[in-house]
Amino acid sequence: MSKLALLGGAPVREKAIPWTNTMGEEEKNAVVEVMDSGILSAFLGRAREQFLGGPKVKEIELMFADKFGAKYGISVNSATTALHTAVAACEIGPGDEVLVTPYTMSATASAILMNNAVPVFVDICADTYTLNPGEIEKWLTPRTKAVIVTNLFGLPGNLPEILKLAKKHGLYVIEDNAQAPGATINGKQAGTFGDLGIFSLNYHKVIHSGEGGIILTNNEKLAYRCQLIRNHGEVAADDLNDDETVVLGSNYRMTELHAAIGIEQLKKLDGFLTLRRALADQLTKGLHNFPGLKGVTVPEGYTHSYYVYPIQFEKSIWRIKRSTFAAAMKAEGFPVGEGYQKPLYLLKMYQHKKVYNQTQYPFAFIEKPVQHYQKGICPVVEEMYEEKLVIADVCRVPYCEEDISDFLTAVDKVWQAREELYEYEKNSLYRS
Ligand SMILES: *Cc1c(COP(=O)(O)O)cnc(C)c1O
Repeated sequence: MSKLALLGGAPVREKAIPWTNTMGEEEKNAVVEVMDSGILSAFLGRAREQFLGGPKVKEIELMFADKFGAKYGISVNSATTALHTAVAACEIGPGDEVLVTPYTMSATASAILMNNAVPVFVDICADTYTLNPGEIEKWLTPRTKAVIVTNLFGLPGNLPEILKLAKKHGLYVIEDNAQAPGATINGKQAGTFGDLGIFSLNYHKVIHSGEGGIILTNNEKLAYRCQLIRNHGEVAADDLNDDETVVLGSNYRMTELHAAIGIEQLKKLDGFLTLRRALADQLTKGLHNFPGLKGVTVPEGYTHSYYVYPIQFEKSIWRIKRSTFAAAMKAEGFPVGEGYQKPLYLLKMYQHKKVYNQTQYPFAFIEKPVQHYQKGICPVVEEMYEEKLVIADVCRVPYCEEDISDFLTAVDKVWQAREELYEYEKNSLYRS
């Protein structure tokens, strides 16, 4: 075996493979078409013809609804604002609690706080990284109004089980599907199981338009509320003489330009997913050769979108630190991430319970909180974050079969050299 790059040998790859521009002629032409029309956004914040936006915005909404199998699509300018809108659509507010995992983008939980409700964090399953349905009932209170399920890394959560529990306890289910467009359970699309499902068109996601978000729902009333929240709904509700609807809106409108790009990207989704899945399958097979690395297991009946490829690193088998493994992989030309997102409840904002000012609201709306965000409340998440999780971002364009083989060669090099790395760590020659 050749010498590790970290210890002065030649790397498997001289250079890490760069990010790729997935914008093609289709997107460019679509943008030019909008530019030529001069209508860059056709929204008007009054309950008139333009309340629902222009042609491209309407087209992308129909396309998403059609593609994934939902009745209504509502476009917004990010998945973050989609989440805020979804929570608000469910009339969740002060005094309410919403269940969510702490192993997700901060926006998933912030959407709850931005509605003045309070997140209650639920642990994940170690083999799927998604919300453990078995942990739901322990955190329920009379104030629990909803559960937000993040379909993390591209794998749908255990939605069949979660929906059963939600029905039993009268909870809304919102799916944060920013990372799993096109993933399925028994043929049904992720993002369409819950009352509302949100998608992202942010630059880092499987498909993108720079920024953008889509909400899907089958519920007419929720769709209406989303449309109001997106576009200054307090004015529109007044225009409509709607006394029933309690709503505070904002400007979360998608531009015609972003819609035009998103439409072309959505057409490419299936192609991207075919590549992601082929590379991921190759990687999963290859990782079986390493006892101290656990690749992805896709549950029976599920498909994965492989937004990223999560791997569990077993320190007891490797005998080196995860950070040493990561440094060695990086030196070979294959940087990997470590730990993903810090468990959200450990962020200072939750630890200090200071969100808007010094008052401790919205936490102070809850007289006897069921949870105090102390370390240890979600041990599986903490273990993944602190010790086990390694993230490979190699299952996407422009990677090919050969790149995955090289990735596995790099892993093998590090594996073969683990005793040497152990000594290296011990002698403190290695500074992280
Ligand atoms: C990226 C992401 C978001 C936010 O998406 P934006 O479109 O960037 O606002 C929310 N949730 C998850 C799980 C994400 O990965």
